[in-house]
Amino acid sequence: MDTIEEFLKNSNIPANPSIAVRIHEPLAKHTTFNVGGAAALWARPNQKGGVDMIAAVFQRSRLQGLPVCVLGRGANIVFSDDGFPGVVLDTGGWSGVETFDQESGRIVFRAGTRIDRAVETSAKHSFGAPDEEASCDVMSVLLDLGYGGLEFLAGMPGSIGGAVYMNARCYDQSIADRLVSVAIIDERLRHATVPFRAAEWGYKKSPFQNRGMFITAAEFSLYKKEKGALLADMEAHRADRERKGHYRFPSAGSVFKNNHAFGIPTGKIIDELGLRGLSRGGAMVAPFHGNIIVNAGGATAADIRFLVDDVAQRVKKSMGFELETEIVFM
Ligand SMILES: Cc1cc2nc3c(=O)[nH]c(=O)nc-3n(C[C@H](O)[C@H](O)[C@H](O)COP(=O)(O)OP(=O)(O)OC[C@H]3O[C@@H](n4cnc5c(N)ncnc54)[C@H](O)[C@@H]3O)c2cc1C
Repeated sequence: MDTIEEFLKNSNIPANPSIAVRIHEPLAKHTTFNVGGAAALWARPNQKGGVDMIAAVFQRSRLQGLPVCVLGRGANIVFSDDGFPGVVLDTGGWSGVETFDQESGRIVFRAGTRIDRAVETSAKHSFGAPDEEASCDVMSVLLDLGYGGLEFLAGMPGSIGGAVYMNARCYDQSIADRLVSVAIIDERLRHATVPFRAAEWGYKKSPFQNRGMFITAAEFSLYKKEKGALLADMEAHRADRERKGHYRFPSAGSVFKNNHAFGIPTGKIIDELGLRGLSRGGAMVAPFHGNIIVNAGGATAADIRFLVDDVAQRVKKSMGFELETEIVFM
Protein backbone atom coordinates (compact mmCIF):
# COMPACT_ATOMS: atom_id res chain seq x y z
CA MET A 1 0.00 0.00 0.00
CA ASP A 2 1.17 3.52 -0.74
CA THR A 3 2.65 5.21 2.36
CA ILE A 4 0.26 8.14 2.20
CA GLU A 5 -2.75 5.85 1.86
CA GLU A 6 -1.43 3.87 4.81
CA PHE A 7 -0.95 7.07 6.80
CA LEU A 8 -4.53 8.14 6.16
CA LYS A 9 -5.96 4.72 6.88
CA ASN A 10 -4.06 4.21 10.13
CA SER A 11 -4.71 7.67 11.49
CA ASN A 12 -8.42 7.95 10.70
CA ILE A 13 -7.60 11.51 9.72
CA PRO A 14 -9.79 11.83 6.61
CA ALA A 15 -12.93 11.27 8.66
CA ASN A 16 -11.88 13.77 11.33
CA PRO A 17 -13.67 17.14 11.12
CA SER A 18 -10.88 18.89 13.04
CA ILE A 19 -8.34 18.64 10.23
CA ALA A 20 -8.35 19.34 6.48
CA VAL A 21 -6.20 17.03 4.34
CA ARG A 22 -5.37 16.96 0.65
CA ILE A 23 -3.25 14.59 -1.40
CA HIS A 24 -0.89 16.08 -4.04
CA GLU A 25 -1.65 19.63 -2.94
CA PRO A 26 0.24 22.21 -5.06
CA LEU A 27 2.54 24.11 -2.71
CA ALA A 28 2.86 27.05 -5.12
CA LYS A 29 -0.48 28.31 -3.85
CA HIS A 30 0.74 28.19 -0.24
CA THR A 31 3.90 30.26 -0.70
CA THR A 32 4.42 33.96 -1.43
CA PHE A 33 6.90 33.13 -4.24
CA ASN A 34 4.08 31.13 -5.91
CA VAL A 35 6.46 28.28 -6.82
CA GLY A 36 6.93 24.65 -5.76
CA GLY A 37 5.56 21.22 -6.65
CA ALA A 38 2.98 19.22 -4.75
CA ALA A 39 2.97 17.93 -1.17
CA ALA A 40 2.41 14.18 -0.97
CA LEU A 41 0.02 15.11 1.83
CA TRP A 42 -1.03 18.53 3.06
CA ALA A 43 -2.75 18.72 6.46
CA ARG A 44 -4.20 21.70 8.25
CA PRO A 45 -5.63 21.14 11.75
CA ASN A 46 -8.33 23.64 12.62
CA GLN A 47 -9.13 25.40 15.92
CA LYS A 48 -10.95 22.32 17.20
CA GLY A 49 -8.11 19.96 16.27
CA GLY A 50 -5.47 22.29 17.67
CA VAL A 51 -2.36 21.09 19.44
CA ASP A 52 -3.70 17.53 19.91
CA MET A 53 -4.20 17.09 16.19
CA ILE A 54 -0.80 18.65 15.44
CA ALA A 55 0.81 16.14 17.83
CA ALA A 56 -1.17 13.26 16.29
CA VAL A 57 0.02 14.13 12.76
CA PHE A 58 3.61 14.41 13.99
CA GLN A 59 3.42 11.06 15.73
CA ARG A 60 1.75 9.23 12.87
CA SER A 61 4.27 10.64 10.35
CA ARG A 62 7.13 9.51 12.58
CA LEU A 63 5.68 5.99 12.88
CA GLN A 64 5.20 5.85 9.12
CA GLY A 65 8.71 7.18 8.45
CA LEU A 66 7.36 10.19 6.54
CA PRO A 67 9.19 13.53 6.62
CA VAL A 68 7.19 16.45 8.02
CA CYS A 69 7.53 20.09 7.10
CA VAL A 70 5.80 22.77 9.17
CA LEU A 71 4.34 25.53 7.03
CA GLY A 72 3.31 28.96 8.27
CA ARG A 73 2.19 31.39 5.57
CA GLY A 74 4.97 30.40 3.20
CA ALA A 75 6.56 33.86 3.14
CA ASN A 76 10.13 32.68 3.60
CA ILE A 77 10.19 29.25 2.03
CA VAL A 78 10.88 27.77 -1.41
CA PHE A 79 9.68 24.22 -2.03
CA SER A 80 11.40 22.25 -4.78
CA ASP A 81 9.63 21.86 -8.13
CA ASP A 82 9.46 18.16 -7.26
CA GLY A 83 7.33 19.05 -4.25
CA PHE A 84 7.61 17.56 -0.77
CA PRO A 85 7.60 13.77 -0.37
CA GLY A 86 5.93 13.71 3.07
CA VAL A 87 3.45 15.65 5.16
CA VAL A 88 3.24 19.42 4.98
CA LEU A 89 1.65 20.47 8.26
CA ASP A 90 0.01 23.84 7.69
CA THR A 91 -0.49 25.96 10.83
CA GLY A 92 -3.03 28.33 9.21
CA GLY A 93 -6.06 26.83 11.01
CA TRP A 94 -4.51 27.19 14.46
CA SER A 95 -4.73 30.93 15.02
CA GLY A 96 -5.91 33.58 17.43
CA VAL A 97 -5.25 34.74 20.97
CA GLU A 98 -4.90 31.97 23.55
CA THR A 99 -4.66 34.26 26.60
CA PHE A 100 -4.25 37.96 27.33
CA ASP A 101 -3.55 39.56 30.71
CA GLN A 102 -4.39 43.25 30.69
CA GLU A 103 -2.38 44.07 33.79
CA SER A 104 0.94 42.58 32.70
CA GLY A 105 0.36 43.06 28.95
CA ARG A 106 1.26 39.39 28.42
CA ILE A 107 -0.40 37.86 25.37
CA VAL A 108 -0.20 34.35 23.88
CA PHE A 109 -0.76 34.03 20.13
CA ARG A 110 -1.33 30.65 18.48
CA ALA A 111 1.30 29.74 15.90
CA GLY A 112 -0.83 30.16 12.79
CA THR A 113 -1.95 33.71 13.62
CA ARG A 114 -1.18 35.95 10.66
CA ILE A 115 1.06 38.95 11.24
CA ASP A 116 -0.85 41.43 9.08
CA ARG A 117 -3.97 40.48 7.21
CA ALA A 118 -4.32 43.94 5.60
CA VAL A 119 -1.18 43.59 3.54
CA GLU A 120 -1.83 40.02 2.44
CA THR A 121 -5.31 40.77 1.17
CA SER A 122 -4.36 44.04 -0.54
CA ALA A 123 -1.49 42.53 -2.60
CA LYS A 124 -2.24 42.19 -6.31
CA HIS A 125 -0.86 38.65 -6.50
CA SER A 126 -1.47 35.62 -4.30
CA PHE A 127 0.28 36.21 -0.97
CA GLY A 128 0.69 32.78 0.53
CA ALA A 129 -1.83 30.42 2.02
CA PRO A 130 -5.40 30.74 0.82
CA ASP A 131 -7.56 31.31 3.85
CA GLU A 132 -10.27 28.72 4.08
CA GLU A 133 -10.94 29.72 7.66
CA ALA A 134 -11.57 33.08 9.20
CA SER A 135 -8.41 33.93 11.10
CA CYS A 136 -7.41 36.96 13.06
CA ASP A 137 -4.11 38.77 12.69
CA VAL A 138 -1.67 40.33 15.13
CA MET A 139 -2.16 43.91 13.93
CA SER A 140 -5.98 43.84 14.38
CA VAL A 141 -5.58 42.33 17.85
CA LEU A 142 -3.16 45.09 18.92
CA LEU A 143 -5.56 47.73 17.62
CA ASP A 144 -8.57 46.15 19.34
CA LEU A 145 -6.74 45.93 22.65
CA GLY A 146 -4.87 49.26 22.45
CA TYR A 147 -1.53 47.56 23.18
CA GLY A 148 1.73 47.95 21.30
CA GLY A 149 5.05 46.13 21.01
CA LEU A 150 4.74 44.17 17.76
CA GLU A 151 3.51 46.90 15.41
CA PHE A 152 6.99 47.20 13.86
CA LEU A 153 6.06 43.98 11.98
CA ALA A 154 3.10 45.65 10.21
CA GLY A 155 3.25 45.00 6.47
CA MET A 156 5.31 41.80 6.81
CA PRO A 157 3.62 38.66 5.48
CA GLY A 158 3.87 35.55 7.67
CA SER A 159 2.60 33.84 10.79
CA ILE A 160 3.59 34.07 14.44
CA GLY A 161 5.17 30.58 14.31
CA GLY A 162 7.20 31.41 11.19
CA ALA A 163 8.26 34.81 12.56
CA VAL A 164 9.45 33.25 15.84
CA TYR A 165 11.24 30.42 14.00
CA MET A 166 13.04 32.95 11.77
CA ASN A 167 13.39 35.62 14.52
CA ALA A 168 11.88 38.03 11.99
CA ARG A 169 13.46 41.47 12.05
CA CYS A 170 12.76 44.90 10.60
CA TYR A 171 13.11 48.58 11.52
CA ASP A 172 15.92 47.68 13.98
CA GLN A 173 13.73 45.39 16.04
CA SER A 174 13.40 41.59 16.20
CA ILE A 175 10.37 39.60 17.31
CA ALA A 176 12.60 38.14 20.06
CA ASP A 177 12.77 41.62 21.65
CA ARG A 178 9.21 41.16 22.96
CA LEU A 179 9.22 37.40 23.46
CA VAL A 180 8.53 35.87 26.89
CA SER A 181 8.19 32.15 26.09
CA VAL A 182 7.44 29.72 23.28
CA ALA A 183 5.22 26.62 23.48
CA ILE A 184 6.55 23.73 21.41
CA ILE A 185 6.22 20.08 20.58
CA ASP A 186 9.86 19.02 20.49
CA GLU A 187 11.67 16.50 18.29
CA ARG A 188 10.78 13.73 20.78
CA LEU A 189 7.10 14.73 20.66
CA ARG A 190 7.16 16.25 24.16
CA HIS A 191 5.11 19.36 24.90
CA ALA A 192 7.16 22.10 26.55
CA THR A 193 7.19 25.83 27.25
CA VAL A 194 10.59 27.32 26.56
CA PRO A 195 11.35 30.59 28.36
CA PHE A 196 13.12 33.27 26.30
CA ARG A 197 16.88 33.28 26.96
CA ALA A 198 18.67 36.09 25.12
CA ALA A 199 21.87 34.06 24.69
CA GLU A 200 20.05 31.57 22.42
CA TRP A 201 18.79 34.22 20.01
CA GLY A 202 20.60 36.30 17.45
CA TYR A 203 20.21 38.14 14.18
CA LYS A 204 17.58 36.08 12.25
CA LYS A 205 18.50 33.16 14.51
CA SER A 206 16.24 31.25 16.92
CA PRO A 207 16.90 28.13 18.99
CA PHE A 208 14.22 26.25 16.99
CA GLN A 209 15.89 26.27 13.59
CA ASN A 210 16.63 22.93 11.87
CA ARG A 211 15.52 20.86 14.87
CA GLY A 212 12.23 19.40 13.66
CA MET A 213 10.22 21.14 16.40
CA PHE A 214 6.72 22.52 16.13
CA ILE A 215 6.06 25.95 17.65
CA THR A 216 2.44 25.85 18.80
CA ALA A 217 2.18 29.31 20.42
CA ALA A 218 4.28 32.24 21.60
CA GLU A 219 3.93 34.64 24.51
CA PHE A 220 4.86 38.31 24.18
CA SER A 221 5.10 41.30 26.48
CA LEU A 222 3.01 44.24 25.23
CA TYR A 223 2.43 47.72 26.66
CA LYS A 224 -0.50 50.13 26.53
CA LYS A 225 -0.42 52.38 23.48
CA GLU A 226 -2.93 54.88 22.20
CA LYS A 227 -4.85 53.42 19.20
CA GLY A 228 -4.28 56.44 16.93
CA ALA A 229 -0.50 56.21 17.46
CA LEU A 230 -0.58 52.45 16.90
CA LEU A 231 -2.45 52.77 13.64
CA ALA A 232 -0.18 55.59 12.44
CA ASP A 233 2.93 53.45 13.08
CA MET A 234 1.42 50.44 11.30
CA GLU A 235 0.40 52.54 8.30
CA ALA A 236 3.88 54.12 8.14
CA HIS A 237 5.54 50.68 7.99
CA ARG A 238 3.10 49.39 5.36
CA ALA A 239 3.62 52.51 3.24
CA ASP A 240 7.39 52.24 3.55
CA ARG A 241 7.30 48.64 2.31
CA GLU A 242 4.95 49.60 -0.51
CA ARG A 243 7.39 52.34 -1.54
CA LYS A 244 10.28 49.86 -1.44
CA GLY A 245 8.40 47.57 -3.87
CA HIS A 246 7.72 44.69 -1.46
CA TYR A 247 4.28 43.97 -2.89
CA ARG A 248 4.98 44.45 -6.60
CA PHE A 249 5.85 40.82 -7.38
CA PRO A 250 5.68 37.44 -5.68
CA SER A 251 8.83 37.01 -3.57
CA ALA A 252 9.99 35.91 -0.13
CA GLY A 253 11.45 39.26 0.95
CA SER A 254 15.21 39.46 1.51
CA VAL A 255 17.12 36.56 0.00
CA PHE A 256 20.38 36.92 1.92
CA LYS A 257 21.10 37.86 5.51
CA ASN A 258 23.00 41.04 6.23
CA ASN A 259 26.42 40.37 7.70
CA HIS A 260 27.43 43.32 9.83
CA ALA A 261 31.08 42.26 9.60
CA PHE A 262 30.95 43.30 5.91
CA GLY A 263 30.07 46.86 6.96
CA ILE A 264 27.52 47.27 4.13
CA PRO A 265 24.01 45.82 3.76
CA THR A 266 23.87 42.85 1.37
CA GLY A 267 21.45 44.67 -0.96
CA LYS A 268 24.01 47.44 -1.43
CA ILE A 269 26.80 44.95 -2.22
CA ILE A 270 24.60 43.36 -4.90
CA ASP A 271 23.60 46.79 -6.25
CA GLU A 272 27.21 47.88 -6.51
CA LEU A 273 27.99 44.83 -8.64
CA GLY A 274 25.21 45.91 -11.01
CA LEU A 275 23.22 42.72 -10.48
CA ARG A 276 19.74 44.27 -10.31
CA GLY A 277 17.69 42.86 -13.17
CA LEU A 278 19.87 39.72 -13.50
CA SER A 279 17.51 36.88 -14.38
CA ARG A 280 17.16 33.17 -14.84
CA GLY A 281 13.92 31.92 -16.40
CA GLY A 282 11.12 33.74 -14.62
CA ALA A 283 13.24 34.63 -11.57
CA MET A 284 14.87 38.06 -11.44
CA VAL A 285 16.95 40.14 -9.02
CA ALA A 286 14.41 42.90 -8.39
CA PRO A 287 15.14 45.95 -10.53
CA PHE A 288 14.31 48.05 -7.43
CA HIS A 289 16.21 46.12 -4.70
CA GLY A 290 19.39 44.04 -4.89
CA ASN A 291 18.49 41.72 -2.01
CA ILE A 292 15.05 40.70 -3.30
CA ILE A 293 14.55 38.06 -5.98
CA VAL A 294 11.11 38.17 -7.57
CA ASN A 295 8.97 35.79 -9.56
CA ALA A 296 8.60 38.03 -12.59
CA GLY A 297 6.30 35.46 -14.23
CA GLY A 298 6.48 31.69 -14.58
CA ALA A 299 9.54 31.22 -12.34
CA THR A 300 10.34 27.76 -11.04
CA ALA A 301 12.03 26.87 -7.76
CA ALA A 302 15.04 25.75 -9.84
CA ASP A 303 15.24 29.23 -11.46
CA ILE A 304 15.27 30.84 -8.01
CA ARG A 305 17.89 28.41 -6.65
CA PHE A 306 20.09 29.01 -9.71
CA LEU A 307 19.86 32.78 -9.40
CA VAL A 308 20.55 32.74 -5.65
CA ASP A 309 23.69 30.63 -6.19
CA ASP A 310 24.75 32.78 -9.16
CA VAL A 311 24.49 36.03 -7.14
CA ALA A 312 26.33 34.46 -4.18
CA GLN A 313 29.15 33.26 -6.44
CA ARG A 314 29.51 36.64 -8.13
CA VAL A 315 29.68 38.40 -4.76
CA LYS A 316 32.24 35.89 -3.50
CA LYS A 317 34.38 36.32 -6.63
CA SER A 318 34.32 40.12 -6.68
CA MET A 319 34.27 40.98 -2.98
CA GLY A 320 35.37 37.82 -1.17
CA PHE A 321 32.18 37.81 0.96
CA GLU A 322 30.34 34.55 1.58
CA LEU A 323 26.62 35.38 1.55
CA GLU A 324 24.26 33.38 3.76
CA THR A 325 20.72 32.77 2.50
CA GLU A 326 17.80 33.84 4.65
CA ILE A 327 15.07 32.09 2.66
CA VAL A 328 14.56 28.42 3.47
CA PHE A 329 14.97 25.94 0.57
CA MET A 330 12.98 22.80 1.20
C1 LIG B 1 7.25 41.03 0.80
C2 LIG B 1 7.98 40.35 1.94
C3 LIG B 1 8.63 41.13 2.90
C4 LIG B 1 9.32 40.51 3.96
N1 LIG B 1 9.95 41.30 4.88
C5 LIG B 1 10.59 40.72 5.92
C6 LIG B 1 11.23 41.52 6.92
O1 LIG B 1 11.21 42.74 6.89
N2 LIG B 1 11.87 40.88 7.94
C7 LIG B 1 11.91 39.52 8.02
O2 LIG B 1 12.50 39.00 8.99
N3 LIG B 1 11.30 38.74 7.09
C8 LIG B 1 10.64 39.30 6.05
N4 LIG B 1 10.02 38.51 5.12
C9 LIG B 1 10.06 37.05 5.23
C10 LIG B 1 8.85 36.48 6.01
O3 LIG B 1 7.79 37.37 6.00
C11 LIG B 1 9.20 36.17 7.47
O4 LIG B 1 10.35 35.36 7.58
C12 LIG B 1 8.04 35.46 8.18
O5 LIG B 1 8.33 35.45 9.53
C13 LIG B 1 7.86 34.04 7.69
O6 LIG B 1 6.70 33.51 8.32
P1 LIG B 1 5.88 32.35 7.65
O7 LIG B 1 4.79 31.97 8.58
O8 LIG B 1 5.46 32.72 6.28
O9 LIG B 1 6.98 31.18 7.61
P2 LIG B 1 7.15 30.07 6.47
O10 LIG B 1 7.72 30.69 5.26
O11 LIG B 1 5.91 29.30 6.32
O12 LIG B 1 8.26 29.15 7.15
C14 LIG B 1 9.57 29.65 7.35
C15 LIG B 1 10.34 28.61 8.22
O13 LIG B 1 9.72 28.57 9.50
C16 LIG B 1 9.30 27.23 9.79
N5 LIG B 1 8.04 27.34 10.56
C17 LIG B 1 6.95 28.08 10.23
N6 LIG B 1 6.01 27.96 11.19
C18 LIG B 1 6.52 27.13 12.13
C19 LIG B 1 6.03 26.60 13.36
N7 LIG B 1 4.81 26.91 13.82
N8 LIG B 1 6.82 25.76 14.06
C20 LIG B 1 8.07 25.42 13.61
N9 LIG B 1 8.58 25.88 12.46
C21 LIG B 1 7.83 26.73 11.73
C22 LIG B 1 9.13 26.55 8.45
O14 LIG B 1 9.25 25.14 8.54
C23 LIG B 1 10.26 27.19 7.65
O15 LIG B 1 11.47 26.55 7.93
C24 LIG B 1 9.33 39.10 4.04
C25 LIG B 1 8.66 38.33 3.09
C26 LIG B 1 8.00 38.96 2.04
C27 LIG B 1 7.27 38.11 1.03
